Amino acid sequence: MVIRDPQNHLNIDTIELKNLLIQMKRWEDWHEICDKIFKIEEWEYAEVEIMEIQKKRKVEKKGGCVWRALANPVKVSAQIEYLYEICQEMAFKKFEMDAYQENIENINDFGKHCVACNVYTETSTIYKCPFCGRKLFLFPLNNFRDNQV
Ligand SMILES: [Zn+2]
Repeated sequence: MVIRDPQNHLNIDTIELKNLLIQMKRWEDWHEICDKIFKIEEWEYAEVEIMEIQKKRKVEKKGGCVWRALANPVKVSAQIEYLYEICQEMAFKKFEMDAYQENIENINDFGKHCVACNVYTETSTIYKCPFCGRKLFLFPLNNFRDNQV
């Protein structure tokens, strides 16, 4: 399957990507995948005005959690961003096992976020986005609070 994002000139062959992920030996290999396959250096940034509007969406309750809006700083399709997050998590688990373990031990410092819906919750015990059904990713609450200041 090829995932396309014409706006960002991306054509990601998922079979090629899977093979590269299996062959990863070092953290640098993941960086090479970021450069060559995801071309993250070329991702277009979203306009500040659009990000401001995104952040103002109202709080919603769903799936037993309270969801707040996040602004998406890049203009890449949700499908590509989701794929990227999945792969990044894989690389993180493989090469930063200690840090990954530490995150799990300090799970209360994290909430969860959906890269497709651009929402986050302070609850860490939910695994699927109640809006789109995608896997949720860890969202560091402390860093986020610091960044808001
Ligand atoms: Zn979602």
